[in-house]
Amino acid sequence: MQASKGRCVTVILLTTLLLMGMLYVYFGPPLRKEVVISNHEFHLVSPDHQRWDERIKKLWDYNHLRYPQPSIVKGRTDVVTLTPWLAPVVWEGTFNPDLLDSIYQQQDISVAATVFAVGKYIMFLKNFLETAEEYFFVGFKVHIYVFTDRPDEVPQVKMAPGRQLTVLPVPSSNRWQEISARRMELIQKLIEERLQGHGKYIFCLDVDSKFHGRWGTESLGGLVAVIHPGYYWDPRSNFPYERRPQSRAYVAEEEGDFYYCGGAFGGSLEEVLLLAKTCRSNFEADAKEGIEAAWQEESHLNRYMWINKPSKVLSPEYLWQDFKSRNSEIHIIRFSGVVKNYAEIRPNA
Ligand code: UDP
Ligand code: MN
Repeated sequence: MQASKGRCVTVILLTTLLLMGMLYVYFGPPLRKEVVISNHEFHLVSPDHQRWDERIKKLWDYNHLRYPQPSIVKGRTDVVTLTPWLAPVVWEGTFNPDLLDSIYQQQDISVAATVFAVGKYIMFLKNFLETAEEYFFVGFKVHIYVFTDRPDEVPQVKMAPGRQLTVLPVPSSNRWQEISARRMELIQKLIEERLQGHGKYIFCLDVDSKFHGRWGTESLGGLVAVIHPGYYWDPRSNFPYERRPQSRAYVAEEEGDFYYCGGAFGGSLEEVLLLAKTCRSNFEADAKEGIEAAWQEESHLNRYMWINKPSKVLSPEYLWQDFKSRNSEIHIIRFSGVVKNYAEIRPNA
């Protein structure tokens, strides 16, 4: 009696195990994924998991990316690559573009760019947009905002998937100083009203310029400034800062780090919003007292960057000038101002 009871329990146990095994075999496989690796490419054998497949592939690429061994004893020695507050100064040869891109591809980043094309400056837009398509954050989400008083004259430029352009109408102006001055206000409003969210960066660029080389993820940072190509060999006392103490853009003789460009700056939305707000309110407060800084918002930007140090500094590779011959430390020109006839294109020269 006792023995047959024991046998009965064993049979029930074995049957349950067998049933569980069958259930696992039957329902198990669709939940598992098989990884097939061949020629550095791999696919998940599961037709309905393409997004998952892409995410894993990105991680795979990142972890298995082959690139030259980094060194802390070899590298560029002809230029300074860190500021005294330890912000990187980006020069060709100091970064690995593929590595940086693969890092940022893990994050869902997008980059906005603002460009003003008021009055005759619309003529520069085509070249700007076409070369941006070729060199500016290729492979990433890019949204270009064009501020213009001539929306009908905005050229049609074919853009790659993930890239788009929005035209925002602005009033015309008879003074270029005013166009320049309003840029900060419009950038502030654009960020406040249209561009909120994480993983977003913005660059504010002059339209009378074009791209000649990569400008990408190496330029990303909280607050990003570009060194002006005209003054970086000079003593700070020669910098064209605003020198009247009455102005809110004032920088004293013995102050200032670098002379930065007004034609290119950027960073995270939060940082650029703060910058735009501050420069705008200082500019407007100056105007009320009848003061216009030497180089309008460029002067205010320079004052701002002196007080609030940029977290990344871009070398003059990021805004050269076409009329200047290339200095030997400039291994690549990425973006540069075109030669223009001020008398011809500005409403008041
Ligand atoms: N700008 C404009 N229309 C004008 C004057 C200036 O759209 O009539 C914009 C344009 O984006 C230009 C920027 O303001 O790139 C700065 O002016 P500009 O390039 O003339 O200054 P520079 O680089 O010569 O100091
Ligand atoms: Mn310019």
